[in-house]
Order: sequence, then C-alpha cells, then structure tokens
Amino acid sequence: MFDSLSDRLGGVFDRLRGRGALTEADVRTAMREVRVALLEADVALPVARKFVDDVTEKAVGQNVLRSVTPGQQVVKIVNDALVEMLGADEAELELNVAPPAIVMVVGLQGSGKTTTTAKIARRLKGRDGKKVMMASLDVNRPAAQEQLATLGGQVEVATLPIIAGQQPVDIARRALSAAKLQGFDVLMLDTAGRLHVDQALMDEMKAVADIARPQEILLVVDSLTGQDAVNVAQNFSDQVPLTGVVLTRMDGDARGGAALSMRAVTGKPIKFAGTGEKLDALEAFHPSRVAGRILGMGDVVSLVERAAESIQQEDAERMATRLAKGQFDMNDLRGQLAQMKRMGGLGALAGMMPGMKKAQAAMNAVPGSDKVLVHMDAIIGSMTVKERSKPDLINAKRKIRIAKGSGTTVQEVNRLLKMHQEMSTAMKKIKKMGGIKGMLSMLG
Ligand code: GDP
Repeated sequence: MFDSLSDRLGGVFDRLRGRGALTEADVRTAMREVRVALLEADVALPVARKFVDDVTEKAVGQNVLRSVTPGQQVVKIVNDALVEMLGADEAELELNVAPPAIVMVVGLQGSGKTTTTAKIARRLKGRDGKKVMMASLDVNRPAAQEQLATLGGQVEVATLPIIAGQQPVDIARRALSAAKLQGFDVLMLDTAGRLHVDQALMDEMKAVADIARPQEILLVVDSLTGQDAVNVAQNFSDQVPLTGVVLTRMDGDARGGAALSMRAVTGKPIKFAGTGEKLDALEAFHPSRVAGRILGMGDVVSLVERAAESIQQEDAERMATRLAKGQFDMNDLRGQLAQMKRMGGLGALAGMMPGMKKAQAAMNAVPGSDKVLVHMDAIIGSMTVKERSKPDLINAKRKIRIAKGSGTTVQEVNRLLKMHQEMSTAMKKIKKMGGIKGMLSMLG
C-alpha cells in the first residue's frame, strides 16, 4: 500500500531532516515536491493544493523554522495534515439499535462487494460476537446469490435461502422478517451491482433502502481505480445517504489516491480497507496509522493488534509488558517474524513493519514472498544469546561471523539490525505517546 508515495515523501523528508537549519525557501521547495508526489499518487488536484497550502502556512509560521529540529517539526505537521485529510476520527459501524441492525452494501460490479459483505459479516461475528445473516439482492448477475451462500458457508454465517425469480425489494422484505423472527443481531444486504452508475441501479437501491431503513449504507469501491473511485462515490452519495466507504484492493494499490482524496472530496469516512482476496483480509481504517505507514514510520500498533489475534495469550502478555517498557530485542523481533507467517505472510504486513520494505528490496525478495522471513530467522539464529538480548554488541567482526553462520551477507545482517533499530524506536515512540494503553487493555 502507498509504496510509491511513501518512497517519494521519504526522499523529501530525509533531505529536510538532514539539515540543521531550514529557511522558508527550503520549506517551499519541499512542499512543491510533496505536491508533485501527491498528484502522482492520483490525489485530486484541489485536495493536493489545499494540503500543501495548509502545511506550508503552518510550517513557515509559528516557531518551526527557529526550533532545534525544524525538519522533524515539518514532518510532524505533514503527518497531522495527512491524518486530517484521511478523516481524523476513526469511523466505526453504528449498529446500536434494536436488532436486527441493517447494513446495506452497495457498489459497482466487480468492486469486491460480495466478498466485502462476507468479510464484514465474518468480522462482526468473530470480533463482536454478533449473530449475523446475509442476503443477496443481486438478481442481475448470474449466480450472485449462490456466491454469497458459498461465502456464508466459508465464514459460517447464515444466508437467506434463495427463492428463484424473486425481485430485490421482495427479497429485502423476506430477509427482514426472517432476521427478526430468528433473532439475528445484524442483517447484511448485498445489493446488485452494475457496470456503470445508472438510474435503474439507483432506483433499485433507493427502493430497497426505503423498505429496509438501514443503519449503515456502505459503498464498496476499488481503490485501484483511483480518482474514478472517488467520482463513483460522489455519484452514489448524491443519490443515497451513504454512511461510509470500503476501499478494496488496497493490497495492490501503490498510489493511494482514492484513499487520500475520498474523505476530502465526498465527506464520507472510509470505514474499512480490503487488503486481499482471503476473507480475513479486512482492516478497520485508522487515519493515524495509515498516515504513519505513508510517512514510512510503519504501523506498529496494527502489527501488534494483528499479532494479538493470532498468538497465545501468554505471549501477548509478555509482549505487552515489554512494549510498555519500551523494550524490544532480537528475541522479540524473531517472535514477530515467526508470527508474520501465521498472520498471512509478508504481503499483508510489510507496510506495517518499519524498515521491512527496504529489507525486502535489499534481499531482492519478491514482494510478499516469505523468503526474506526465512533469511532473517537464520540471521537471528546465528547470533549468540548475548547478542540477541543486546544487539548493540554486534560489531563488524561479529557481523561477518553471523553472516557466515546464516549463509547470508553482512549487508543483510545490517538490514536486519537497522530494521530492529527502527522498530524499537517506533516502540519507544508509542510508549511516549501513551498510545499503547488501548493496546494493553486489548491484550489483557
Ligand atoms: P462484486 O462483483 O463487487 O460482488 O465483486 P466480488 O466480491 O465477486 O469480487 C471480485 C473479485 O475481487 C474477487 O476475485 C475477489 O476475490 C476480489 N477481491 C475483493 N476484494 C479484494 C481485495 O481487497 N483485495 C484483492 N486482492 N482482491 C479482492
């Protein structure tokens, strides 16, 4: 996600941070580069312009330029502006009504609507313990209803029995009464898609919304379509009261323009991001964490949460305690690497781990492949017990020994050390910001 934007901005900020003092001209030059980077990421022009203007105004004002670390300050201002652009507050599903709460899912054909419906149902069931039913109202696409039933089987969520020939509004009525009678907490309605936005689609959607009176109307759009995704969202939003957007295929989106412009252009929050074809590849959209990933600071909080879902309680507690103290040694890193495999491999996680992308590049590993994990594990395996708990001990001579022992190169050892250092800095930062509190309570 956001790889190319992240690389571009990384370059700009490295140059800013590299200087002791900054002039207004330095900031303006940097902001011109930021603007180009945003436009290349396919961010809408007015959004990019406003972003750069806001940041410039803040950065040349106040006492930023005269501060001890002007470069850092500017990066912080950019970070805050990114969070603001992405939507500041996190947007959760609002399902606090007398059951069944209704979630209507709309979007164009092929956007990932049906898959996303099943992913959200899985999440509501697993994370929130809700009793969920899904119903497909898609009578246009052949076998759409069967597809949802199959996905329902996979995530173990009930689907409304199919009655051939029934029309969407009637299916919606039947689903509502079934959900009420059978005591479901949430009913998810997967509506029909079309290839393009057209009036017939909009009319059908409105008719269903009139009957179902949904608490949430979520629009699913494909992030790979960039500005088109934003335009589609605007079109839908003009017709039905959308409560949020789900961006799919974020796993393949190196540019990120849709994610970055969506909120500013449509005013609608992004509630989830689809990050893969598997049914667990859905993430709540946290603007601050996404901003962190874009700025190359990684997203350690998401990483730890993801880990907490897949590791033993004991490990989670141990990790939480260590993190709270700001400790993170090679043994912790090794544990993390092992978990990454279980958590769906590198593809889903690389952007969350500071330094991981660079490490992959250095090892010429195919992005998303797990070869790099095997190498890193071998490198840590070749360290002595002392070296693992005190990586500072590892000097040039030791590096050569470790590289030989693990069948890797000194360069790879250096990469791993750098990555460890970046992660441990990130952990300390989290500690300082007090951001770990929520995580700790989650980890028990
Ligand atoms: P619909 O026509 O909008 O209902 O689209 P589907 O749900 O049938 O999805 C179309 C294709 O996109 C399927 O092959 C899905 O597996 C795939 N897909 C959906 N969401 C994602 C995602 O977040 N990432 C990736 N890589 N593929 C996805």
